[in-house]
Amino acid sequence: MSTSAPDAVTKRHVEIYDTTLRDGSQLEGISLTVEDKLRIAEQLDWLGVDYIEAGWPGANPKDDELFRRAPHDMKLTTSTLVAFGSTRRPKGKVDSDDTLRHLIEANVGTVCIVGKTWDYHVTEALGVELDEGEAMIADSVEFLRTNGMQVLFDAEHFFDGYKRNPEFALRALEAAATNGASHLVLCDTNGGSLPHEVEAAVAAVVSYLGNDVRVAVHLHDDAGTGVANALAGVRGGAQQVQGTINGYGERTGNCNLTAIIPNLTLKMGIETIPADRMERLTPVAHHIAELVNMPLNPQAAYVGHSAFAHKAGLHTSAIAKRPDAYEHVAPDVVGNGTRFVVSELAGKSTLGLKAKELGLDLDGPQLADVVETLKRLEHEGYHFEVADGSLELLMRRATGWEPAWFTVESFRVITDDTTGVDTLTDKTGATVTTEATVKAHVKGKRVIATAEGNGPVNALDRALRTALNGTFPALDRVHLTDYKVRVLDTNKGTGAVTRVLIDSTDGDATWTTIGVNENIIEASWQALLDSIHYGLLRAENEAGGR
Ligand SMILES: [Zn+2]
Repeated sequence: MSTSAPDAVTKRHVEIYDTTLRDGSQLEGISLTVEDKLRIAEQLDWLGVDYIEAGWPGANPKDDELFRRAPHDMKLTTSTLVAFGSTRRPKGKVDSDDTLRHLIEANVGTVCIVGKTWDYHVTEALGVELDEGEAMIADSVEFLRTNGMQVLFDAEHFFDGYKRNPEFALRALEAAATNGASHLVLCDTNGGSLPHEVEAAVAAVVSYLGNDVRVAVHLHDDAGTGVANALAGVRGGAQQVQGTINGYGERTGNCNLTAIIPNLTLKMGIETIPADRMERLTPVAHHIAELVNMPLNPQAAYVGHSAFAHKAGLHTSAIAKRPDAYEHVAPDVVGNGTRFVVSELAGKSTLGLKAKELGLDLDGPQLADVVETLKRLEHEGYHFEVADGSLELLMRRATGWEPAWFTVESFRVITDDTTGVDTLTDKTGATVTTEATVKAHVKGKRVIATAEGNGPVNALDRALRTALNGTFPALDRVHLTDYKVRVLDTNKGTGAVTRVLIDSTDGDATWTTIGVNENIIEASWQALLDSIHYGLLRAENEAGGR
């Protein structure tokens, strides 16, 4: 027995069960390869969730391959892998049931099976008596248990079923519990429940079934209360919360683990993932967003790019002095950071903080200079709040720095629209080609390079890279990922100006650059050049070990 300090109270622990790979992949627009799923599982394990639900064996070839590869290609050190499936077929036999056989063949020790706990679904969707509905659950759990597996029972439509026929909903849960289910997962499958309803229903189940079985909650965000419902479920006595990273999921998504984990631990003092891994939350959220190829909502609680971004010019110096007065938690606890957003409203104090954040030493007159320049440019249509890359270049220039890797003498873009008959297909149609030429001076040499592209930005990017011709290997990693154009009405009588924003990445970081001009090509060129300069600057700083 170890002796503990008198004030050391055993903290309550709530397990985290991730279903990003199954429920999360139901989100419109997400399509994960087996390789993606392996990489996501790696991230989840590194974060330290208790369970990773990998998929439904037998449902599709991808999930089959995933379970086949898991023993060799998925090295889990913290998390337990779970296979998902369902109870046996109505009026079927467990030992000749395909779904159950696939679960056993998936070769994992833990399974989660879904069964119906809403009487209406048993009689209408399955078309069987309630007794058979109950037997499907009891038989299936028992069968998997006798095959040596840990079984979580996923009570589909539990909250709706409990509202309409609590007697049957509880009877179904009891069938799973008495046959050895380790967890009863109460699901809000339609996602419309509210926190007070979830708390009351969970509390009723916990008091009915006692402590022999753990109660889990699986909540969808259809009413915008997925995370709130999970908090309520935990207050009602749930010992496990299921959800997905970044709230991915069908329709409006699932309970967002990147919000529920810090809420439980930092706000309610409940253990979730290992305490020393909380700072991995933001990197994992961003890494998984990259893997699913969807930009992370900047306003996401705790992990979003804007979660701790302060814009208020008047308050910024106060925030810098006393961050705890303006931030609900310390951002670094969840791996995020305080950011000061610079806009024309920003005064010298905000810019001073931004300079510090970038590791720049700007004196008073230099700061005043930047403030003036920003005001002028924002008046012309620039918007530096969203163009972090261009802002950093602008602030560095204030210190006398100039990008000296190469200089551009001129550039030109031609678009050809040739309408004619395609000799191969005999079809008439327009072929549009864009060609760009860049004249530049690179390391003392004048070079002229021409390239084609599927649009002016693409053609210019290729021509510039051709001109640089491998002089800067770091650029191989830099790619443009998004291009946004907005026409601004400046009310100046000079006609509209165009604002171009380009997002770029080098695989580790992303940055945005901006260009503004009456001519869209010129605006695009400014943003493109800034992007390339910023990419080179990052590579140089990294090589220098900044
Ligand atoms: Zn679900």
